[in-house]
Amino acid sequence: MTNDCLFCRIVAGEIPATVVHETETTLAFRDISPKAPVHVLVIPKAHHVDVASLAQADPGLAGEVLAAAATVADNEGLLLDGYRLMFNTGRNGGQEVFHVHAHVLGGAPLGPMLAR
Ligand code: 5GP
Ligand code: ZN
Repeated sequence: MTNDCLFCRIVAGEIPATVVHETETTLAFRDISPKAPVHVLVIPKAHHVDVASLAQADPGLAGEVLAAAATVADNEGLLLDGYRLMFNTGRNGGQEVFHVHAHVLGGAPLGPMLAR
């Protein structure tokens, strides 16, 4: 738990979120500003800054985040038509919240991978 981390505060229940899936080690909730019909964020409850530091510190937990993202995609009905799983990382990656999170995006064609 990091006091000034937004997503740690969501895990602690100090900031409300629409939770769609929870395990002992992960939490999934709807993005407050959805960029697609389905836009869910999947996080480890433990604080790790980004996907690289998570994978190095706790590869098992990284796998649990991926498994939770796959469950969310299934629960949201995204398996047939597909979806996108994204980890924005660092400044060039456009990361704004420095508690690692997978974006699960789907529900419509998402267009090219990157805006040009
Ligand atoms: P990033 O740019 O770091 O990859 O993604 C951060 C995401 O967190 C953004 O898509 C943003 O809309 C979302 N977000 C920011 N603040 C909140 C919040 O208080 N609650 C929820 N549910 N999502 C948030
Ligand atoms: Zn955190």
